[in-house]
Amino acid sequence: HAKKSGRNTYAFYNDALTVEANHKLRLAVELRQCVQNEELELYYQPQVDLVTGDIIGVEALLRWHHPERGLLSPFHFIDVAEERSIIHDITQWVVETGCQQLKVWQDTGLNVSMAVNISPRNLADVAFTQVVFEALDRTGADPRFLELEITENTLIENQANALKVLEQLRDKGVGIAIDDFGTGYSSMAYLKRYPISKLKIDRHFIKDIQSQSPDEQEVAIVSAMIAMADSLGMGVVAEGIETLHQQAILHELGCTFGQGFLYRRPIPAVEMSELLGLDPEGECGA
Ligand code: C2E
Ligand code: MG
Ligand code: MG
Ligand code: MG
Repeated sequence: HAKKSGRNTYAFYNDALTVEANHKLRLAVELRQCVQNEELELYYQPQVDLVTGDIIGVEALLRWHHPERGLLSPFHFIDVAEERSIIHDITQWVVETGCQQLKVWQDTGLNVSMAVNISPRNLADVAFTQVVFEALDRTGADPRFLELEITENTLIENQANALKVLEQLRDKGVGIAIDDFGTGYSSMAYLKRYPISKLKIDRHFIKDIQSQSPDEQEVAIVSAMIAMADSLGMGVVAEGIETLHQQAILHELGCTFGQGFLYRRPIPAVEMSELLGLDPEGECGA
């Protein structure tokens, strides 16, 4: 009897693995087509000045209009894309589309920056600098308003190539932000080694300061991150602000910028143009 149930368990486990593998394989096949099928879209979430409330920039967040499953967040597909180098095509599309939109906004006289997310695999690619430079050249966007978001782990994984790539981008005026700051596994030595212009404090730290009587230690950690960014001459953004209470604490701690559902969820380009005070009809440029 035991033998039988053991075999069944094995068979079940095996089936589950097959289902998972098939799902990934199918996703990969579909993902390979998503750029040319024009199924990708960038949503934009504002970054605001915590003192004036002004929108100082936006972060571009990728969405995939899957033919059957509807609108997907990167959570559902970015890992599969990263495993199979499909990420190179996707990132190229993201950078190019982000720069195009930035150019449209710059042409109307807006001073907003455009942040795009970059995968670890991109920084391992020696041609990556070229991808960004070409997008800037083709669109005519001002590089000083473009910012690339990378995670701490990206830097540990690609020490050889990352420094060169990031320095070339910095020399062109492109900003480098550390995304999800505080959640990686690296020592902080990289902060002085790489040309980093901004730290984005991960939303889990911001979540921790939300209670009515905030835990002093949680506040102390966020406060120390802000102080460190300041003394290193970097900008600092608090991610995932959802409540006025969080905003008030962050403001008191001297945090300059914030991003989160309190201000706006990620929205399509047309809506972001409206939010920025532009005539939505003019969104596509000339
Ligand atoms: P991220 O770069 O840290 O982006 C912030 C994520 O937090 C976004 O999720 C955003 O919708 C969400 N968020 C913003 N404000 C709040 C808030 O107040 N509360 C909560 N709970 N969440 C908030 P999204 O759009 O699903 O993106 C998830 C992640 O996918 C991003 O995290 C980023 O790592 C990755 N990603 C997004 N777009 C791209 C892309 O174009 N390329 C690559 N390689 N990765 C991307
Ligand atoms: Mg990001
Ligand atoms: Mg983040
Ligand atoms: Mg994140």
